[in-house]
Amino acid sequence: MKLEIIIVSLSGCSGCISSIISLDIFPQFVEKTKIIYFPFISDEEKILDCDIALIEGCISIPSQVERIKEIRKKAKNVYALGSCSAFGGILSLSRKKNAEPISNYIEIDGIIPGCPPPPNLLGNCLIRLVERKNIILSEKNMCAACPLKGDIGAIDNIEINSLNPNLDEITFPEENSECFLKRGILCLGPITRDICEHICIKNGLPCEGCAGPIFRDFTSNAVNFLSLVNLSKNLKKYRGIFYRFSNPKFGREYK
Ligand code: SF4
Ligand code: SF4
Repeated sequence: MKLEIIIVSLSGCSGCISSIISLDIFPQFVEKTKIIYFPFISDEEKILDCDIALIEGCISIPSQVERIKEIRKKAKNVYALGSCSAFGGILSLSRKKNAEPISNYIEIDGIIPGCPPPPNLLGNCLIRLVERKNIILSEKNMCAACPLKGDIGAIDNIEINSLNPNLDEITFPEENSECFLKRGILCLGPITRDICEHICIKNGLPCEGCAGPIFRDFTSNAVNFLSLVNLSKNLKKYRGIFYRFSNPKFGREYK
């Protein structure tokens, strides 16, 4: 019997849903499963019993809590699709909106991280689900296989004063293989799970941490890491470093 799937969106930009639909293997995924609820592309109104629920987006209003509790009752397995659902995500930058991961309210069976999840990871995860296997994620950080040598070395005497290289200073790893931290540019690679084949770094930009941490709480990992590096005054004041992909409630006390 085909696996019955539901795909649901909460608060977010629908980028993860767009990424699923854009996958090369999406037509095969549709053929091999039975998608019984997917409001983004169908008119089905009722959430029915199913094998797998993929939930995109964070919790930002109370009615979404009831919705995911209903989904949890009806789905044998529930996965957080993307970093909003897994950690709270980009809406965490707002001071007015709430942005909570779904795991604050229901048990989940796994996450597919990323903002949005990169196509290789997402495709592999869907294939594993179709094969009735659990999702397995790397337990290494971005530095482990970084094309910039992965050699952070001693950086305590280097001031980290920028979030990105200047436009005219962007270089590819073949041209400049020096770690961003050694260049005084903040890279969250040390506390970010390696899931994306270093897509930003290969394109000359540091990792902003969209894949989240290997261990659960992004912000406490970020706070611990950032307390070890020599941040410039301006960066110390910039709260977006901590809150971009996670629930801000956890990080407000950082000084
Ligand atoms: S800090 Fe960033 S640039 Fe440096 S090794 Fe780690 S992932 Fe690579
Ligand atoms: S390099 Fe970092 S910010 Fe860029 S896609 Fe990968 S995990 Fe996300």
